[in-house]
Amino acid sequence: MGKKYLFTPGPTEVPPSVLAACAEPIIHHRTLEFEQIFAEVNEGLQYVFETSNPVLTFAASGTGAMESAVANLLSAGDEALCVQGGKFGERWTELCNAYGVKATPLDVEWGKAVEPSLIEKQLKDNPALKAVFVTLSETSTGVRSDLEAIGKIVAKTPAALVVDAVSGLGATRCRTDAWHLDVVVAGSQKALMLPPGLAMVSVSDKAWALVEKSTLPKYYFDWKKAKSNLDKKTTPFTPAVSLIVALRESLRLIREETLDAALARQARMAEACRAGLEAIGIELYSQSPVEGVTVGKVPEGIKGGDFVKRLWSDFGIKVAGGQAQLKGKIFRIATMGSLDCLDIPLVISAVEMTLHRMGYPVELGKGVAAAEKVLAQPVQ
Ligand SMILES: *Cc1c(COP(=O)(O)O)cnc(C)c1O
Repeated sequence: MGKKYLFTPGPTEVPPSVLAACAEPIIHHRTLEFEQIFAEVNEGLQYVFETSNPVLTFAASGTGAMESAVANLLSAGDEALCVQGGKFGERWTELCNAYGVKATPLDVEWGKAVEPSLIEKQLKDNPALKAVFVTLSETSTGVRSDLEAIGKIVAKTPAALVVDAVSGLGATRCRTDAWHLDVVVAGSQKALMLPPGLAMVSVSDKAWALVEKSTLPKYYFDWKKAKSNLDKKTTPFTPAVSLIVALRESLRLIREETLDAALARQARMAEACRAGLEAIGIELYSQSPVEGVTVGKVPEGIKGGDFVKRLWSDFGIKVAGGQAQLKGKIFRIATMGSLDCLDIPLVISAVEMTLHRMGYPVELGKGVAAAEKVLAQPVQ
């Protein structure tokens, strides 16, 4: 019983009008009606991706589209650079390994963003690199990469720049075309405010040239098949019709707010969340904080797992704990999607009260006040 709140970096809360769209009677996908919806969805996706490239949509979680990038761009024995400073960066290396691609991992200290010049050096030292795999918003650490700088570097080489923007797209700026991002992967259950189940991927001309040469095995995730169907406003296989219909509505909401305003709102939420946590005495984990997820270090003397559980059992607030080596050491609060400014004092209040109940010394209201100080500023 009691009200429940999702502050997790996926899945995120789904706005009522999007939920209502999910519940509409099923339409058949081989109809003019579906084709019109799918065409509208694709225009909306291009708006959010900030691209004129085609955006392919698959019924899969985000990882499905990540896998499709490896399978469609590369051939067995190809070499690729994988930037890894967290769980999701590591996933690129794992996917390359699974497909027989020679992955060179570029290890970045967790909590820090990759230094773009390191990518430049790797590309110079190894001209055989066919692709550079990076993460826009590293959800496991709350770190944002400087894709504008990385894009400039990779654009001067024959390599394709492939971006996991699953938790970034719609929450933090991702200028696909202006920043020369060849492939951008997104998922439905993060800032796009949908249930899990859809993955999207934009593909540049430079990337399509690699697709033409790729010999890795693929069938369901064949980009060429998806593209030729997209040209006919449809998909090769049965699409997740209800999610596509819901995506039309969530994209309509983003357009209505405007992408700029949506990004600014989430930036304010993240800033307020950071201010609130710091005022409580909680250290921030990320040195390049991303807008979509704010990561705090669990304070001394508190068990991270218990803290996350108490937020849920005492206040109905779901936040994420740490993964891998950060298990029990951090907690992650999503500041993305349909969450709004007043949700931040709410979650900070729950953090304060939970820490208080767990015996940690907090001055109640101090974090909330700090968050309010940010949010009380007039919106530009
Ligand atoms: C959520 C997420 C994914 C995809 O995870 P799925 O569970 O496959 O949807 C990939 N990368 C990042 C950065 C994510 O946050």
